[in-house]
Amino acid sequence: MNELPLMDTQDGIVLFYPNIPKNAAQAVSEVLNTRWIGQGPKVDEFEKRFQAKFTDPCTCIAVGSGTDALHLAYILAGLEEGDEVIVPVFTCTATNIPFLYMGVKIVFADVDENLNLDVNHVASLITPRTKAIVCVHYGGLPCDMSALWEMGKAHNIAIIEDAAHAIGAKYKDHYIGSQSDFTIFSFQAIKHITTGDGGMLVIKNPALVEKAKRIRWFGIDRSSKQKGIWENDITEVGYKYQLNDIAASIGLEGLAEFDDHLAHRQNLYRLYAKLLKNVEGIRVIGTEYTDREHAAWLLTAEVDDRERLIVHLRNHGIESAQVHYRNDRYSIFGGRTTGKFPKMDAIEERYIVLPLHAKVTEANVEYIAEVLKKGW
Ligand SMILES: *Cc1c(COP(=O)(O)O)cnc(C)c1O
Repeated sequence: MNELPLMDTQDGIVLFYPNIPKNAAQAVSEVLNTRWIGQGPKVDEFEKRFQAKFTDPCTCIAVGSGTDALHLAYILAGLEEGDEVIVPVFTCTATNIPFLYMGVKIVFADVDENLNLDVNHVASLITPRTKAIVCVHYGGLPCDMSALWEMGKAHNIAIIEDAAHAIGAKYKDHYIGSQSDFTIFSFQAIKHITTGDGGMLVIKNPALVEKAKRIRWFGIDRSSKQKGIWENDITEVGYKYQLNDIAASIGLEGLAEFDDHLAHRQNLYRLYAKLLKNVEGIRVIGTEYTDREHAAWLLTAEVDDRERLIVHLRNHGIESAQVHYRNDRYSIFGGRTTGKFPKMDAIEERYIVLPLHAKVTEANVEYIAEVLKKGW
């Protein structure tokens, strides 16, 4: 058996590590030597480049976090108190907490075997009060978008993609972010591209873009203000959700390196899938599709005897964890419901996330696979 191939940390093979672009410090230093450190030219440039690469013809609006982007998307989708929204029961709490700000009724849907939204269950949950469906591309694996877009059209329901895990993922040859009513991305510390914290709101309907910019900034029309033609009145409630130029300068560097970073992640994902293919008691999630491209943010596996596996990995210097939990376990969402989500129930005690990030090497993955082949 190989020696444990350490990363440049003494902690063994850790689960997450921020992906800091090589020119990030230089880029930040340049911004710090200008007049603009708040929302200025770097934010504009970051929005433009991100849009050109991933989301055209949809418009990019940079914000302070993925959660900010979700909250704005929900407002722009016209969601109001008492409306219903269908969301996956399994996701980061960030997806669902903004609904509690708004008094929108969360209707959880079950997930499929790959922890993405079960579109058949979604179809059965639609009522006349359903105003939106939110899907989450779990780990970077695109959901069944064609089915969701069809439901959206048939019932006049907004489709909102939480693509926090899925920068660079493709569905039927199109980048995630270029087709739905709204898509959000996150630039939180450990996402593919980080700005420390940050997010991107992507909007399909051009008529909503100016409003989005206003409610990103207190409800003030900043461009009129800067031109000196602002009426000095605020007529709608906004937030302080903008990105700043310090963060955007890091994001621009992350974007410049993105293709290499994505290729690294996807290569590791494929290597895991290959090496673990015939290993007893473990199945890598999301490998069977040919119509979509996995952005490889997380390597998630379905495993037997998870608690023993975690200890076995830890004993070999490998960190693993669940990372996300079913949201109906949280009291703020009403607490647990047994029996309503059979697929979630079936996988709840069986999923685990293994290390996959900028610092993980092929040798690390080979070592992890050997450790798993020994059994646990
Ligand atoms: C990271 C994440 C978000 C957004 O998180 P922020 O920390 O607010 O940027 C949203 N949804 C999912 C599924 C996430 O993993």
